[in-house]
Amino acid sequence: MRRWAGATAAMGCMAAVGASAQPYPEHVQKHLDSATMNAMGDEGLLNYIRRNQCFEVEDSTWRTWARSKDSIRVPLTQVFDDLWMIGTQYTASYFLKTADNGVMLIDALNNTADADNYLIPALRQLGLPLRGIYITHGHGDHDGGVNRLRQVFGNDWPVFLGSGDVPGKAYQPTPIDSSSDGVQQVTIGGTTLYVQATPGHTPGNQISLIPVHHNGTTIKLVMNWRSAVPASSANSKLYVQGLEKVWRMIDQYGAVGTIHTHAISDATLPAIEQIMATGDRTRTPLVFGLERTKRAAVVARECAIARAAQIDATAVWDIWRATQVKFVGQSPSPTQLAARVSSAWGPVTNQPVSFSTGSGATCTATTDGNGVATCTNLPSLAPREIVVARFAGSTADAGFVDLPGVAEATSSSLACDIDNNGKVDRFDLSRITAVLGSSVPAGDARDVNADGKVTVADARMCTVKCTNAQCAP
Ligand SMILES: [Zn+2]
Repeated sequence: MRRWAGATAAMGCMAAVGASAQPYPEHVQKHLDSATMNAMGDEGLLNYIRRNQCFEVEDSTWRTWARSKDSIRVPLTQVFDDLWMIGTQYTASYFLKTADNGVMLIDALNNTADADNYLIPALRQLGLPLRGIYITHGHGDHDGGVNRLRQVFGNDWPVFLGSGDVPGKAYQPTPIDSSSDGVQQVTIGGTTLYVQATPGHTPGNQISLIPVHHNGTTIKLVMNWRSAVPASSANSKLYVQGLEKVWRMIDQYGAVGTIHTHAISDATLPAIEQIMATGDRTRTPLVFGLERTKRAAVVARECAIARAAQIDATAVWDIWRATQVKFVGQSPSPTQLAARVSSAWGPVTNQPVSFSTGSGATCTATTDGNGVATCTNLPSLAPREIVVARFAGSTADAGFVDLPGVAEATSSSLACDIDNNGKVDRFDLSRITAVLGSSVPAGDARDVNADGKVTVADARMCTVKCTNAQCAP
């Protein structure tokens, strides 16, 4: 488990999370519990994702706490190599440097005064021409400054807005289709965002992936993954379905964290506090990996369902379970190809796992009672080859959806290559001799003759396989 740095101020307010569990009706509580289980003890997901979505059921003080952050100004602050934030810790805008050396604005604060006091001076400070604006949704705290930017900078650049929010807008938005289920691309200044229409919070609401550079590497972040769950039954359902689509977008396009124009909504607030306090943006809690970002979307969905179930007790929702796929033992290796599929609920049993190698070899095996799928017909592996194990997901367990999962690893190229560095040498032998006489599970690479024990016979078999003379490294 990894602790997220720079979050002490926020953590103080969050101390009661989890401890304040209350007896909610079963159809609500089971989704709150699922949100907790899918977080799998990950404090980052519990504090910055679960808390900031499940509060709508659990914590009536959250909104007041959140809005108190509107008094803390964020001056123009660089968050990534090419992304800057400005506004307050409650409502902010981002400037993303575009491929053509201009700038894209993401959301536009509340009103003309905000445009005059924050956005226009920041643009001048950056010294980059405005290429266009992307609006996450049409509420006034996200697009209130656009009319003023039109007055000052003209009309020769687009303002992208979900088509469902276009009616009544005076700033000539370029619509993004809010009725599309698919991921759409929006390009401003040569830089492309991936946009998923997620109607519910507003008819034109969108959740998107934005590409940023972090310490020189391109990554994608989920922009504005949460908002308030709408009060009507129909719209609360749309809201949940939007989060399901976002999970698929993350899975398909790859995202390694979340970021928000309401910084209070996720790890954006601790990131901003850390950067403002230390000036260091090289290690940020905003970047936490693909697998955790997918789990974050599952946690958010379960929280949103808990609220939707309060609004409409007749609605029936499956529980989503994030799965993990992990190679077991010395797998992948020439002598073993096996992977375990599990979720916070335990092993995923009796389900197919497909293995594939870079050279095109494939194998499919079914998980046993421990969730382990083991190939019996081993494909031949080239040295140091990438092997992928893929679980396609399952609805076999009524009331649950086991989500797809994947693992990737480099194969050990050689029997006896215990440390998997592509050669057999005395370091491998010493790993065998260190456990002479031990009983080991099937598939342990140190048990070369597969008799269930590591013995001097195994050491002898490996001595003759050494890559270099005298087993030199
Ligand atoms: Zn809104």
